[in-house]
Amino acid sequence: MTTIDVVIPTVGRSCLGRLLASIERERVHERGRVIVVDDRPGKTALELPAWATRVVGRCAGPAAARNRGWSASDADWIAFLDDDTELTPAWLDQLESDIGDLPATVAASQGRIMVPRPTGRKPTDAERAVIGLETARYASADICYRRSVLELVGGFDERFPRAYREDSDIALRVLDAGFDIVQGRRATLHRLADDPARSALRRQAGNRDDVLMAALHGRGWRERCGAPRGRLRRHLLTSAAAAAVPVAVVAGRRTLAGVLGAVWLAGTAELAWARIAPGPRTRREVTGLLATSLALPPLAVGQYARGLLELPRRLHPRPDAVLLDRDGTLVVDVPHNGDPREVRPMPGAQEAVARLRRAGVPTAVVTNQSGIARGFTTADQVAAVNRRVEQLFGPLGPWFVCPHGDEDGCDCRKPEPGMLLTAARSLGADPARTAMIGDTGADMEAARRAGLRGVLVPTAVTLADEVANASEVASDLPAAVDRLLGAAAT
Ligand SMILES: [Mg+2]
Repeated sequence: MTTIDVVIPTVGRSCLGRLLASIERERVHERGRVIVVDDRPGKTALELPAWATRVVGRCAGPAAARNRGWSASDADWIAFLDDDTELTPAWLDQLESDIGDLPATVAASQGRIMVPRPTGRKPTDAERAVIGLETARYASADICYRRSVLELVGGFDERFPRAYREDSDIALRVLDAGFDIVQGRRATLHRLADDPARSALRRQAGNRDDVLMAALHGRGWRERCGAPRGRLRRHLLTSAAAAAVPVAVVAGRRTLAGVLGAVWLAGTAELAWARIAPGPRTRREVTGLLATSLALPPLAVGQYARGLLELPRRLHPRPDAVLLDRDGTLVVDVPHNGDPREVRPMPGAQEAVARLRRAGVPTAVVTNQSGIARGFTTADQVAAVNRRVEQLFGPLGPWFVCPHGDEDGCDCRKPEPGMLLTAARSLGADPARTAMIGDTGADMEAARRAGLRGVLVPTAVTLADEVANASEVASDLPAAVDRLLGAAAT
């Protein structure tokens, strides 16, 4: 029989109780496990019914929490629910019929989100944002994925730290992998939020995630996941006009200052009216929306700019460990060198390694020494050279030396991935979060095959082909370390 587990990430909001009560009423817990990922920073025990499984999250947002949850499950299907939802009657029966006969090419079934409207008045601006969930595609408030597909695409992308766009991102990756996502018939209730002023301002942080979405999925990402075009361009115009007013005043251009001021006022008024007009227009809401409409454009533009600035670091987060090639990367390449007196560091290499050390990034050295197999040097001579390298650089972490030649068919000689995998493991690092810096195509090929991030630092002997084929190239070791440590490097 098909198995279904439910995964609910939560920061312990009181609404979780309503969801759990509806799960008990629908007897979902009798059908499969209900895994609650406790993502609160303080870890006093979250009160849960005895039938729920508590998994502790790492407080890195709902994407990371959902990954914790589904990784703890071995069911065929994972039904993700947000903690501010509530199941409607017969939800489980309908879920079973939603996924019952789906062909293997369908990766997920989306639940219908229903937002109860306020009675006797129109919904406020903040409430309309929640109502938008009813038409949002791929919303994780209720979506049921095949676990095999989650494994295939590596789950949710944890570079999305907010409850924003992480659901669209995984959906686009699943579609890219050739699967479909279909609409199911089951329905889930989603409550209206309150605290309107704060949520509109807080939502602007999502502009940073939009920058990441564009970088990951290209320009057409909004159309593909049904995300409405935002107001960023208008916000930019309004903010630029506001910022230019004092400049025009100082320059004595009073007419220009007047025009700019009018553009700013018109932009702000248009935004405020667009938010006020469809709502209940109570004095309280109108006051709040006027104030936040002044702040929204510059806040949105600021968050977007921040998204652009942090993009390189988000695309390539700092690695957990760095593997270093020896010859041509740390030290000048003297072919088959057996003489410690011949060891000369590459320019800037010692300082670059010191920066990795200060940043707390563990390192290891992975070096091919086929001179041993071919009789040009002895293992002892290589060890003496390595000791000299450490005298000059300080501790470089564990050393891995491949003494074999091409003919030996070992799995450690780069471009084979074996030595890199062993090195990453010895540092306790996930290969996917480990980087390799080297000066040849063999270093990069070994990195690729071991699932590491490779950064090529070409020297005069690096082939043009090797440079062209490298996924990342830095001019030298200091530049490669800059790149790996990101903008925050010191
Ligand atoms: Mg080398």
